[in-house]
Amino acid sequence: MNRTPAAVMGVIFACCLGVAIVVAQVGPPKDARATKPADLVELVTLDPTIRLDIRYAGTNNFLGRPVYPEARAFLQRPAAQSLVAAHRELAAHGYGLLIHDGYRPWAITKLFWDMTSGSQREFVADPSQGSKHNRGCAVDLTLFDLAFGTAVEMPSGYDEMTPRAYPDYKGGPPEARGKRDLLRQVMERHGFVVESNEWWHFNYTGWEQYPILDIPFSAIKPS
Ligand SMILES: [Zn+2]
Repeated sequence: MNRTPAAVMGVIFACCLGVAIVVAQVGPPKDARATKPADLVELVTLDPTIRLDIRYAGTNNFLGRPVYPEARAFLQRPAAQSLVAAHRELAAHGYGLLIHDGYRPWAITKLFWDMTSGSQREFVADPSQGSKHNRGCAVDLTLFDLAFGTAVEMPSGYDEMTPRAYPDYKGGPPEARGKRDLLRQVMERHGFVVESNEWWHFNYTGWEQYPILDIPFSAIKPS
């Protein structure tokens, strides 16, 4: 990780009065591995049958308030194309993909970090490192039933910060575990890897090649 001095978080200066002043990180860190240009694509422009339930645009999230001004989802183009392929494969099983989150501006990751503490921080990214969501290479999703149009039951709720969120959790209804495992199998066939403690979060292989971004949704131009 290659950061500019201004982006180093938690640098502490002792002033002449002996008071410690913490200089907050002012922008996203830079990663020398990130050699590819950003090419964010809005998922529903590739396939309008992908459904959205962008939790951070409403109040049904762990903060209880909206943090996105718009309910939209973007990924880097290869990840978006692979997601569409997974969505189409799942149709043969009677399911589609319901997206909770994709690309996330870095400032929102910093907000999550500032709003959590203790064990909750297992489930949020450290802004000094940036997150794979910030790179447009992570997606949070679940399955919806094509026949009924409703989200399926999974072993835990989205963003539930408990061991039920682990993709290898053995409890809960077997039917729910089966759907969780189907989602993982299909996503992993299309270049994604599940997060070790969140069944709903998938990282696209090669994520480190994309920069940590802090572009608002409204500034992403169609290409
Ligand atoms: Zn996620």
